[in-house]
Amino acid sequence: MADCLFCKIANHEIDSEIVLETEGTVAFRDINPVAPSHVLVIPKRHVVSAHELGGGDAGLLGELFETVTRVASDAGIAEGYRVVTNVGADAGQTVHHLHLHVIGGRSMSWPPG
Ligand code: 5GP
Ligand code: ZN
Repeated sequence: MADCLFCKIANHEIDSEIVLETEGTVAFRDINPVAPSHVLVIPKRHVVSAHELGGGDAGLLGELFETVTRVASDAGIAEGYRVVTNVGADAGQTVHHLHLHVIGGRSMSWPPG
């Protein structure tokens, strides 16, 4: 998608600190981390949010979560981390290209704000 920030990161048109790339996904450090480890995992394909996903996306979902677990293991946080995806304005989604926040390296409270 022409005007999408995360499509541009996935295409390497905009610099980011990429930690892992697979055939269909990219993982890069959040520019404004909320924890010692904060990585965003995105599909290379433009998907607006998790709400757009269906049964036909099972392969992509598997690949996204494989990237999540590899990122968490590489970051040394495999024993405890949070995977968050915000859907829409009420949940705080600001970039409208599906992304999984992989957050860890500190203890967290529940429920989120
Ligand atoms: P959301 O609020 O949509 O769930 O999360 C968007 C995330 O993208 C935020 O945590 C924000 O810090 C991050 N972000 C926004 N712009 C950039 C950018 O240009 N580069 C990187 N690496 N992260 C970004
Ligand atoms: Zn996009």
